[in-house]
Amino acid sequence: MSDVRDVIVIGGGPAGYTAALYAARANLQPLVIEGFSWGGQLMITSDVENYPGYPDGVMGPEMMAEFRRQAERFGTEFVTDDVTRVDFSERPFRVWVEGEEYRARSVIVATGASARWLGLESEERLKGRGVSACATCDGAFFRDKHIFVVGGGDSAFEEALFLTRFGYKVTLVHRRDEFRASQIMVDRARDNEKIEFKTPFAVEEVLGEDSISGLRLRNTETDETEEVEAGALFVAIGHDPNTNLFVDQLDHDANGYLVTKPGTTETNIAGVFAAGDVQDHVYRQAVTAAGSGCMAALDAERFLAADEGHAGTALTAPRPEAEPTKV
Ligand code: NAP
Repeated sequence: MSDVRDVIVIGGGPAGYTAALYAARANLQPLVIEGFSWGGQLMITSDVENYPGYPDGVMGPEMMAEFRRQAERFGTEFVTDDVTRVDFSERPFRVWVEGEEYRARSVIVATGASARWLGLESEERLKGRGVSACATCDGAFFRDKHIFVVGGGDSAFEEALFLTRFGYKVTLVHRRDEFRASQIMVDRARDNEKIEFKTPFAVEEVLGEDSISGLRLRNTETDETEEVEAGALFVAIGHDPNTNLFVDQLDHDANGYLVTKPGTTETNIAGVFAAGDVQDHVYRQAVTAAGSGCMAALDAERFLAADEGHAGTALTAPRPEAEPTKV
């Protein structure tokens, strides 16, 4: 069983790399199967202004490269590919990347979430031809165009604000008159003279043959439709958890988010833990994902120590009752 690892982490975002960092420092020699597009959602984020420790902000990809480097420093190994199958029905747990099988005594699932799409045939057809879900990746293609953003949460506002660097005008389309976004983002957008609001409207169709030429919008109160010219459409309507690989083996809620025991990262299978956005539809922040990645590594470490007396050097396992400090 020498090829059986203590910990495999599936997913290379803030949760996965933080879990790896803690597991590596506990001498558990984690393997992170980080995905072909490692780094997670922060790879398509511009300035991160709310991660503590970066008072001047940091670019998302730069921050993820630093997370990865820090995990690597303590001996984490990486497979830069996508997991294609898992079997958690018996131990050691088994994880496959195509034909390659990996085995481990514990697994931390940290596969995150992915951008949601409107689900229109025309949206699918014009992806990469004016329709995008990533302003950081594609915004610069639409210099001096009239850019539309759909959504009413922080992501939509963030995208809209970022896109004012490129478009001559940015119109934010939202299906309700109230926004889910935080007040500071709404205020910033309202103060930006390049941003207009179109509410309560839904995008009913993306118009254009080979590239986007416009949108058909529907007033969600009156049902009246209108067509507008558009140079680009950025979809920013939230995310879905990346749990297809796991839903037949791990407990999940109606939206596919993995369910963990409150206050822990434990799933319904002992030895399998879940961290980050894959199990959190409430907070979904890099800092909360990183925090739960840390929790998952500590939970895995304690599980291994209790289960098999084989948890490497338990740097962070519960300590024996300390003598009270005398003053
Ligand atoms: P979100 O808060 O869930 O907002 C999604 C928005 O898209 C909602 O306004 C929703 O409308 C709309 N929507 C959903 N499905 C739709 C559909 N089929 N058609 C049209 N509109 C649709 O998602 P998010 O903006 O991605 O934010 C997720 C989390 O990340 C939040 O906690 C947010 O605070 C955080 N975040 C923070 C920052 C930041 O602080 N810099 C940046 C980005 C994200 P309804 O409101 O009508 O449901």
